Amino acid sequence: MAAGESFDVYRLPDEHQAIREAVREVCAAKVAPHAAEADETGEFPKASYDALRAADFHAPHIPEEFGGAGADALATAIVIEEVARACASSSLIPAVNKLGTMPLLLAGSAEIKSRYLTPVAAGDAMFSYCLSEPEAGSDAASMTTRAVRDGDHWVLNGVKRWITNAGVSEFYTVFAVTDPSARSRGISAFVVEKSDSGVSFGAPEKKLGIKGSPTREVYLDNVRIPADRMIGAEGTGFATAMKTLDHTRVTIAAQAVGIAQGALDYAKGYVAERRQFGKAVAEFQGIQFMLADMGMKLEAARQLTYAAAGKSERGDADLTYFGAAAKCFASDAAMEITTDAVQLLGGYGYTRDYPVERMMRDAKITQIYEGTNQVQRIVMARQLLADVV
Ligand SMILES: Cc1cc2nc3c(=O)[nH]c(=O)nc-3n(C[C@H](O)[C@H](O)[C@H](O)COP(=O)(O)OP(=O)(O)OC[C@H]3O[C@@H](n4cnc5c(N)ncnc54)[C@H](O)[C@@H]3O)c2cc1C
Repeated sequence: MAAGESFDVYRLPDEHQAIREAVREVCAAKVAPHAAEADETGEFPKASYDALRAADFHAPHIPEEFGGAGADALATAIVIEEVARACASSSLIPAVNKLGTMPLLLAGSAEIKSRYLTPVAAGDAMFSYCLSEPEAGSDAASMTTRAVRDGDHWVLNGVKRWITNAGVSEFYTVFAVTDPSARSRGISAFVVEKSDSGVSFGAPEKKLGIKGSPTREVYLDNVRIPADRMIGAEGTGFATAMKTLDHTRVTIAAQAVGIAQGALDYAKGYVAERRQFGKAVAEFQGIQFMLADMGMKLEAARQLTYAAAGKSERGDADLTYFGAAAKCFASDAAMEITTDAVQLLGGYGYTRDYPVERMMRDAKITQIYEGTNQVQRIVMARQLLADVV
């Protein structure tokens, strides 16, 4: 290949650049202005939802055949990244719509997909994902929520914990034990509707960050649903849950990248303005080195996230490794970058008058959910050692 001909290799396609610009514009005008308020009040940012829905960014991954925007995994990651740059709580709208619907996309029948994905694409309903329980977090396969067959229905009983957007979402992917003797192979996935008799919600958790995204328990008390609400075959639910996370850890990585970018952008502007010892603090090399490290880690996180998004889109065999690596690396980077952003603002960074302390609190959750970063390291090590142990 002649010199100069390789310029198109390994760069974001123009259409993805255009999506970034479009999301950034919507977020600057209609999402960022509500971010501090969502954090302060702990209320779901309805105005952000409306703005994202109007621009078709609320569930961009849903295929066109169901009325969705049909964004690929990289475009979806960019949407989530850009929303998170403005408001991490709002970024859980597209992220959790993907998390909740992914089991259907991966394993659902044509009928169940069409019935449930269409209203999500239209913005008439949101979808949550119910895997975790009070006693089953990292060890999700030890869940005790039970589904028992009763004629052509299933009856569900149990408690799901930490469910993002619970109460706001109309639909829930619920994982439940259908055969207690088979452990992870005895778990099945179901769609439960908010309006099903026996479904109720706990009080919103009082959290450190992402306060505008409600997190609540979901109680299932003799919830009787038709058998055709099972997603995929009986006993395949846990495998579907894990495959889902392979794809959606990429979206959490994107969320982390966005939060970190928001913090770096704000801190950069601040150090250029703030003067001490007769000059802008940005002129001190100690500050410049911090900024350089922040920018370097951020870009490394972004590149790994986009590479993982490509693997998610193609369904590559090494997605499990890349999804875990991207989520783990990007969330650790976001925690460091947002903490450094607070440092760059000095005492002002420690107050709610400036957005970086919110970003630091919001970044923390990306190291915890969809599997803690210890769990991501277990996943990566298992993949790395697969051919030698
Ligand atoms: C705000 C929020 C939103 C969430 N949203 C959802 C949601 O929408 N749907 C859903 O299903 N879940 C959700 N979760 C749950 C989340 O995925 C779990 O909290 C997470 O998987 C960890 O489980 P746990 O909290 O029970 O921690 P535990 O599993 O009890 O872990 C405690 C500590 O032990 C460590 N640990 C555990 N096992 C090991 C091991 N084998 N080796 C080394 N260290 C280990 C963990 O890393 C952690 O540091 C959410 C959680 C939060 C806080």
